[in-house]
Amino acid sequence: MSIKVGIPRGLWFYDYYPLWKTFYECLDAEVIISKPTNRKILDQGVKNTVDEACLPVKIFNGHVIDLKDRADYIFVPKMMSAYEREYICPKFCGLPEMVLHSIEGLPPLIDVEINFNKSRKNMADTIYKFGFYIIKDKRKINRAYCEALKNYRDYKNAIKKGILPIDGDLTEINGGKIYDRKIKKIMVIGHTYNIYDSYSSMNLLNKLKKNGVHIIVPEMIGFEHINRHAATLDKKMFWSFGRKLLGTSIYLAETRDVDGVIYISSFGCGIDSIIQYLFEKKSRKEGEIPFLLLTIDEHTGEAGINTRIEAFLDMIEWRKRYENNISTYG
Ligand code: SF4
Repeated sequence: MSIKVGIPRGLWFYDYYPLWKTFYECLDAEVIISKPTNRKILDQGVKNTVDEACLPVKIFNGHVIDLKDRADYIFVPKMMSAYEREYICPKFCGLPEMVLHSIEGLPPLIDVEINFNKSRKNMADTIYKFGFYIIKDKRKINRAYCEALKNYRDYKNAIKKGILPIDGDLTEINGGKIYDRKIKKIMVIGHTYNIYDSYSSMNLLNKLKKNGVHIIVPEMIGFEHINRHAATLDKKMFWSFGRKLLGTSIYLAETRDVDGVIYISSFGCGIDSIIQYLFEKKSRKEGEIPFLLLTIDEHTGEAGINTRIEAFLDMIEWRKRYENNISTYG
């Protein structure tokens, strides 16, 4: 019987799940992904996490609970850094400890540290450590990782071409159609676990899609552009998320290639509170691009979010129709 590895559908999930799913499947493990976020997962997460934690961490804990009795291992790596000389949120670094502290009766966690600030040799050891939970054969682990990288690159290329991952499935949003100037082109930004989790984002992407919006996300611009623009900042941004978003905001202010920006932020997120302010300053004030901030937490009501989205789309419609006579503040 194959070993069951549970992958929680939260935090880094929408960035990396094709990589880790393929990796473990190539090692003959059975991969179980937690259910899409729902009321029960949210409630369990809220009940089993300290109040001060942000909503995405509470949701992540809810997903771990969903997998608790169905997996032999749960995949909760300790992510210190995803790029050299950069860091990610401290909550990612302490995630395995936080999960173990909050939830009782868990199977063992796959809690290997991922740290791109260490040497390349360390990265190879890291991959072996992930594989050793299933098998001790280094050659097989190498092969599984090469296959996983291939799938991961295909996934990232698909996003670049306009295919968005919603709830773990690649759902084609624009059907390959050529962009029509009459259609509103809106950039949706924020953490991937806020954008692509339909429950916590209150189905934002599908709502925009139903309104005929052409959705773009920073990954579609291309990292070469984002990195080049981020390099023009006075000081290097050492948070990977901040660098990605600020590079995007400078690019947008320069090209003015979208009709509006919607930023989804989590209540209680320290990084969002700074990045969202800087992003807004760049894109709205310097780029004159309409900007909508949606802050979500476990108490956010859908009706209020719907009204704000509708008003924002109407404002963009008017702005497009009557040229630039309406202010970027709506
Ligand atoms: S970056 Fe913000 S939302 Fe994400 S885990 Fe850290 S505190 Fe939470």
